Amino acid sequence: MSHRSVYRFALARSPRGLPRRHDYGVPHQKRHVKRATFRDCGRRCVYCAARLGLEAATLDHVIPLSRGGNHAPGNLVAACIACNQLKGSMLPVEFFTRFPWAGQNFMRYARAAHRSVKRGARRAVSLAFAEAA
Ligand SMILES: [Zn+2]
Repeated sequence: MSHRSVYRFALARSPRGLPRRHDYGVPHQKRHVKRATFRDCGRRCVYCAARLGLEAATLDHVIPLSRGGNHAPGNLVAACIACNQLKGSMLPVEFFTRFPWAGQNFMRYARAAHRSVKRGARRAVSLAFAEAA
């Protein structure tokens, strides 16, 4: 073995070919996260259960970033723009207490969400129905 082989380490490759149009401005990692989240949520809005295309879907932070949520996959769900705006910066418990239907859909479709979030959703929904009854 010659000493030259010692220096053959792998350099990071620059991407080959021309960038495709939809790649501009969208970091690869972010696109990947959105696609994975979208798939895990059954290609639906987890709040109103409407079927969505990838373009119409937005990433929603279950616990909003402004309320101490993080960008981890367990805190991300796919939502339509209307539901995302409706939820705004509400915590899931606040949102599901006010809109129990959203909580029911959330429990059905937000499979990738962290179980602590789903537990909170279940409690909020049952509370909301108990008050309505
Ligand atoms: Zn929706």
